[in-house]
Amino acid sequence: MGVLGPFARSAAIAVLAVFGAVAAFATIAPSTDAEALLSPTSSVEALPIPAEALLPSPASYIREERYQRGDTLSAFLSRLGLAGAEAELLAHQRALQALRPGYNVAAEVSAEGRLVALSFLTARDTLVQVSREGEELRSSEERAALYTQVAMKSSVVQSSLFAASDAAGIPDSVAMQLADIFGGEIDFHRDLRKGDQFTVVYELHHLAGRPVRAGRVLAAEFSSRGKTFRAVHYGNGYYAPDGNNLRKAFLRAPLEFSRVSSGFGLRVHPIAKAWRAHQGIDYAAPTGTRVRAVGGAVVEYAGPRGGYGNTVILRHPGQYTTVYAHLSRIAVKRGARVEQNDTIGFVGQTGWATGPHLHYEFRVNGQSRNPLSIAMPAASPVPTAELAAFHAYAAPLIARLELLANSNLAQLE
Ligand SMILES: [Zn+2]
Repeated sequence: MGVLGPFARSAAIAVLAVFGAVAAFATIAPSTDAEALLSPTSSVEALPIPAEALLPSPASYIREERYQRGDTLSAFLSRLGLAGAEAELLAHQRALQALRPGYNVAAEVSAEGRLVALSFLTARDTLVQVSREGEELRSSEERAALYTQVAMKSSVVQSSLFAASDAAGIPDSVAMQLADIFGGEIDFHRDLRKGDQFTVVYELHHLAGRPVRAGRVLAAEFSSRGKTFRAVHYGNGYYAPDGNNLRKAFLRAPLEFSRVSSGFGLRVHPIAKAWRAHQGIDYAAPTGTRVRAVGGAVVEYAGPRGGYGNTVILRHPGQYTTVYAHLSRIAVKRGARVEQNDTIGFVGQTGWATGPHLHYEFRVNGQSRNPLSIAMPAASPVPTAELAAFHAYAAPLIARLELLANSNLAQLE
């Protein structure tokens, strides 16, 4: 996590708002309709103006709180303003058993502390509602009427992909998809440079006028170090505008890309030297970061290996092998088959290592080679018979990418 500038910070709040990850939220609204319960109003800080100053003696409050890992139901309900007999009554509602850490719950509570209505959206898109009918509480569950809009965002890398996506209000799940889509072309731990830019078109699911969750990336463009890559989602994969598959036989980076590991990208580890002297690439990363197979393979070796510490060697089709060293823990057994992106172990500092990092080697016929110099064979392109349909589908998405990329450039000039 880098230092958040004021811009990044407000963008981070915007991202929080998208997912309703609201830390503290108190507002006054007499309305009881579902839309108001799922109000988009949110803030991560208490409002400075006393609520009473705005509206005289409100009939009810709407509060929204996030159910946290480790929360007890009674502690959580008391944050929503529900205690005593009301909390007791609610605790007996079976609907509340669907509550999970990370869910945001909105509750309308009367000035006397009685529940008027409560609702939350589950990870399975079920809208759970509890409302008062006289002295009784009534629960209902229904499939949330989510609808999808297409969002388009563009940003420029200053320090990291996540800082850039935060600055543009792009959700983390979309940033991670970007790293995945272009993972055969770009090593997001090492290749990014200040000034690299990207544009992304993605699904944004809404409920009652409020964005609640990002969906799939539909199309994206990434310009890194003077090279521009484009991707369009089609069938089960992502393809370049000419129909070539973006899925490569090997990932550029053997390290899981995450908010935590991405912050280490530009740091140089003390042991790291020029690749020539070193025969490999070192990725500094926190102990426990997931190490993944860069391609489908059979595990040739898994165990301790002198100065390499805990080591996994994978044998890929052709003359390729890859080596992953200094692991804290190995997650595969010799002889096992692994697919691209499978977890084979975790970053550590076993063997000759002064700090947690992954030592990675890409070997051709047993000789260590710089993976950046190897032409990586690609997975199958769009079948010839489908090319016309693919082009017809991809054209408007690519037009959107170009429009946004160009307007972003114009802003920079
Ligand atoms: Zn090394």
